[in-house]
Amino acid sequence: MAVEIPFRRDFAFEYGKLESVVPGIRRIVANNPGPFTFRGTGTYVVGEGEVAVIDPGPDLEEHVDALLKGLEGEHITHILVTHTHRDHSPAAAAVKAATGAPTYGFGPHAGGKRGEAAVEEGGDWDFMPDITVKDGDEIVGPGWRFEAVHTPGHTSNHLCFALSDSGILFSGDHVMGWSTSVIAPPDGDMAAYMASLDKLLERRDSIYWPTHGPAITEPKDHVRAFIAHRRERESGIIACLETGISQVDAMVERLYVGLNPNLRRAAGRSVLAHLVDLAGRGIAASDGALTVDATYRLLRR
Ligand SMILES: [Zn+2]
Repeated sequence: MAVEIPFRRDFAFEYGKLESVVPGIRRIVANNPGPFTFRGTGTYVVGEGEVAVIDPGPDLEEHVDALLKGLEGEHITHILVTHTHRDHSPAAAAVKAATGAPTYGFGPHAGGKRGEAAVEEGGDWDFMPDITVKDGDEIVGPGWRFEAVHTPGHTSNHLCFALSDSGILFSGDHVMGWSTSVIAPPDGDMAAYMASLDKLLERRDSIYWPTHGPAITEPKDHVRAFIAHRRERESGIIACLETGISQVDAMVERLYVGLNPNLRRAAGRSVLAHLVDLAGRGIAASDGALTVDATYRLLRR
């Protein structure tokens, strides 16, 4: 039976308006909707007076202007970045230029090459955090404190930010309510992603605020459903290999029934991510490099 993911897509907001979502947390959604961004990038503002911004967003002047206008009379003191995709980090430069606030992130974009055709929004090769943040590091401001949670998988440099004493986790693109996450090798890594889902199950956060779409109010159920979904997909790929379906395209055809054609390439990358993981575990192998065009075979179950 297919795993049911309890997707959440009810999302009330107004573009260009900094709105309160819960006391002490505001959000402004950038007007960059798309197949990987849902309605757009949700930039969060935490605190009052002296505030932290999480995921300043895409390089979109109107978005940065609206954010700064919404914060007139207040000061941005910290710019936190969950990861270096172009819908998350590029606006950090403009926000920093306007405010002088330092940027916090795990590190620069890794994997792949600058200018390479990208699935999803592509990497932001220009972002370099002023302050490098590791798993467990604390980021402290007046009235708020974050713990960084390194959650590689979607990208190798992905961080979630837990707001202390609130049960709130800003989950970036690691766990979203509206969709599964794209795991696209080489920077996307299925084994790391699964471990990062397990890592969240061990935590006690009670609500996730992802960068795209609405909050997730039953986060553990959601994470468990994602884990089950990926295991089911892996079983489907193994079943393909058993029946002689040995190429990524044919697996996508078999496994993704009714797929939006815009998402074919992303689906192919996801299947590849599973095959790389299966190869790493000695379950599958390819005729050469582990690429989207290679021919795969099963070594064992
Ligand atoms: Zn992303």
